[in-house]
Amino acid sequence: MGESSIPNPPIEENTPPSILTKQPQKEGMTIARMVQTVISVAIVMATLFTLWNPYRIFSTQTTILPSQAKQTRSVETIPIRIGVHIGHFKHNEGFQCPDSIQEVDVNYVIANKVSLLLAASGITVDILQEYDLALINYKADALVSIHTRSCVDPSAAQSGFLIKTSLSSTDVEKANILAACLGEQYQANTGLVFRYEPINEQDPASHVFVDINAQTPAVLIETGSLAVDRGIIIDTSDRAASGITAGILCFLKAQQLIQ
Ligand SMILES: [Zn+2]
Repeated sequence: MGESSIPNPPIEENTPPSILTKQPQKEGMTIARMVQTVISVAIVMATLFTLWNPYRIFSTQTTILPSQAKQTRSVETIPIRIGVHIGHFKHNEGFQCPDSIQEVDVNYVIANKVSLLLAASGITVDILQEYDLALINYKADALVSIHTRSCVDPSAAQSGFLIKTSLSSTDVEKANILAACLGEQYQANTGLVFRYEPINEQDPASHVFVDINAQTPAVLIETGSLAVDRGIIIDTSDRAASGITAGILCFLKAQQLIQ
């Protein structure tokens, strides 16, 4: 980084003494600058963590970078594991739009970006299909099922995302914290408004909540309307993926699983 802009003289045995004597001074300045940078970063990080409050709805956009997530569990213990469930994948298309856009493809792209961001934080990720056998009694620190809203029904004209949870979870409080974190972080990253509701047992997607181990906190997110939120969930799906990732990291922090 920046090496090409500052020409460094090659250090060879026949390097003139004048260059060699200048080296310590130049290095000293560089170290001083690095120390200053490290201190500045530390001050910013300290301020961020002081302000941290997982229950507050953030008024400004917050993107949690992967490097900020440090696992607090030791390597010897079980690593943090997150399930990323791709709605409809390997089962059906989900919502289908007249212009041939399919929900499953949108879910797939966002889910894969989320898994890459989580993996970059050292988190073990399981990518799960709609009816993945691994869902049966699935145990993890959290599971997020990714869907979109419709593109044709009357509600499609309304922008926004939706978060659904199950009331049958063993630890409803944990699931609620996951839902709150996901809601506030997805909203902060995408600017979309959201609604929250318990999942209806008639909803075909509800099988995920039944299949998994009851102690695994799980939420379903419908990332936006396929009719009016394409700018977020298709054109700039990085923002959608960053929002979901930040929500999961927020939950892991609230559970003190990462710093
Ligand atoms: Zn769906």
